[in-house]
Amino acid sequence: MSDNICDRCKKPVKTEENVMELLAIVQDDPLLVFTNDKCRHIRCSPSSAQWINHPDFMPMTDKRPKYAKKQYSVENRKVFEKKFTSGWLKLIGEDNLEDSTINLMNLD
Ligand SMILES: [Zn+2]
Repeated sequence: MSDNICDRCKKPVKTEENVMELLAIVQDDPLLVFTNDKCRHIRCSPSSAQWINHPDFMPMTDKRPKYAKKQYSVENRKVFEKKFTSGWLKLIGEDNLEDSTINLMNLD
């Protein structure tokens, strides 16, 4: 196991800052963290960070056309924001919100 060093900024990454941990929660795939050895700060990953919409999280935007929020419909944006924001709150241990937000993405 390598140290948890961000592949973008080369600084140490705490669990609650790791975008892979966030994606594991968001995608409901706990193994993601083990099957993917990438390690990156949430804030060094604007494509994910842009979806966190919370007063405690300084908003980020991803201006790259491939990832930019703008390309998504308003409905999809809401879904992603809910999913990433509630996932992030869970990650930092502040998930005492109602659980209904998590279930929104189980649309299949
Ligand atoms: Zn970083």
